[in-house]
Amino acid sequence: MREQRDEEHQFQWFRKISEAHIDAVLLLNPKRRVIAVNHQWKRLMKTQATLTGAPFDQWVADKDKEQVQAAFSKLSGGKSQQVSAQLVVAAHQVTVEITFVPITKGTDVTAVYTVVKYMSLETSKEGQMINRTGDDVLTELPNRRLFIERLEQSIEAAIQTEEQLAVLFVDIDRFKVINDTLGHVLGDLALTEITKRINECLCNSEFLGRMGGDEFILLIPQMDHLDEAFAVAESIRDVISLPLDIEGYEFTLTSSIGIAALPQNGTNAETLIKCADAAMYRAKANGAERIQLYSAEMNRGFNEWFQVENDLRKALEREEFELYYQPQFDTRTKALTGVEVLVRWHHPNNGLVPPAKFIPIAEETGLIVPIGEWILRQACKQKKRWIDEGYPEIPISVNLSLRQFMQKNIVERVAEIIDETGIPPHLLDLEITESVTIDLNRTLRILNELKQLGITISLDDFGTGYSSLQYLSIFPIDELKIDKSFIDGIGMSTNNEAIIPMIINLGHTLKLQVVAEGVETKEQLDFLMKHSCDVVQGYYYSKPLAESEYDSFVKRRHDR
Ligand code: C2E
Ligand code: CA
Ligand code: CA
Repeated sequence: MREQRDEEHQFQWFRKISEAHIDAVLLLNPKRRVIAVNHQWKRLMKTQATLTGAPFDQWVADKDKEQVQAAFSKLSGGKSQQVSAQLVVAAHQVTVEITFVPITKGTDVTAVYTVVKYMSLETSKEGQMINRTGDDVLTELPNRRLFIERLEQSIEAAIQTEEQLAVLFVDIDRFKVINDTLGHVLGDLALTEITKRINECLCNSEFLGRMGGDEFILLIPQMDHLDEAFAVAESIRDVISLPLDIEGYEFTLTSSIGIAALPQNGTNAETLIKCADAAMYRAKANGAERIQLYSAEMNRGFNEWFQVENDLRKALEREEFELYYQPQFDTRTKALTGVEVLVRWHHPNNGLVPPAKFIPIAEETGLIVPIGEWILRQACKQKKRWIDEGYPEIPISVNLSLRQFMQKNIVERVAEIIDETGIPPHLLDLEITESVTIDLNRTLRILNELKQLGITISLDDFGTGYSSLQYLSIFPIDELKIDKSFIDGIGMSTNNEAIIPMIINLGHTLKLQVVAEGVETKEQLDFLMKHSCDVVQGYYYSKPLAESEYDSFVKRRHDR
């Protein structure tokens, strides 16, 4: 009974994590038989069967069976193993990379989390066929120039008949990540599918063009009311967010859509496109999956993307950024164990701007690189000052954005700042997110080099991204931060609550410190303590504090 419950638990945890995974994943027992598989695996194998109990070896090409078994048998050492092999799927073979991650209890391997990364289709006619239509459909859409011509004609007609007209700018969120992760061929296939879906939302008079990359532009030539443009935008947004299935990879995309209307926002093609574009950026800045109508205020005020970009460029020299510090606590001893640095922007006209409003813009424009470097330098300087003043010697955690991490000389930059500020490297922790797994080899190399500087690495927002045990087990990281969305589920008897103990166990199996973030209530804290979470951070103990507030906070604790 107990055992069965355990296995059910294991299964739940597996489902949650593996279904978020972009690759095929299986949970195998120590005899290489299937405990559970994710959707991707069924897709890859073109089967709907549950497969429980099936031997994994049956799918491995004969010539590769031996080396797969050899890799598997090394798992008893506790380390994950990687092996390239061919799998037999229906009539053809696919080349894959298999990562076996042992799940251990004490020294026993209880199960093996198996990630199967699809590399290429060896002998399928299908694959070639899809690629060909992909290119055709992609190039079929009118380009910018054609679109502008058509728009100009429609504007003339609309002005004469005194009708309204709308231009919609549609941009796929984070599409670059998909492209970089899956490669351009699959990225193009995704765009083809998106194009098809958008086309299905349209009626004959509407005109769709592609501005290049992942940007689409749509003309609605006659409208009685602006509501019609919103209705079309909503249906486009909705069809884009339906799951995509590209060559066995299932994922979802979201979009941001900007709308500009004639005559309110302009009476020529150039202006309307510019306005729709600006509205789209505004939508994106407000968080993905928004629809935004252009408004004149975007020209003047804070809201226009380019304005923010301009202001951001000046913010550094005008010293408008300030660092806040959010303490972290040991769940058992209640000792202060660390502090996360969070940036704040004092905008001259708009007051305090939260990071969610400008970090995405800084990311997209690349401004995050100089800003992030400033943050890192300031944080290290501050830490050094605190050490010199006799404050507790706890590490400081600084968020490192993807763009920063992708910088060519990131390791040298970090090393220089450590040197220059004199911070003891072991007191510097960098928080990265799963998005850095775009280029696995490079990421591994950079992480190892960073670790050699003597600093520690945390994996932030764990559970929200392209979560994967594969990365967890091979990355030289020290800490796992459970995303707030899971913590919010505590007391709600949701899946999110059930998964927390699994994440904690997983972290401990991999010898990582586990931090819960966004802890707001006693109930959440109790739950986390009960499940042996190591460290908590959240409003329950303290909001992020300005430097002076943090100072008095530490002194107050010290006096007690
Ligand atoms: P994050 O790294 O996940 O940071 C945690 C966020 O959760 C912070 O929001 C923090 O104020 C908030 N938080 C902490 N405890 C609680 C709680 O109990 N309840 C609630 N509701 N919220 C809590 P913040 O400061 O607004 O930052 C948002 C995001 O902006 C960060 O998420 C991070 O991705 C980014 N960010 C912030 N500062 C920096 C920075 O210096 N560099 C970079 N690259 N990104 C930053
Ligand atoms: Ca963080
Ligand atoms: Ca986080």
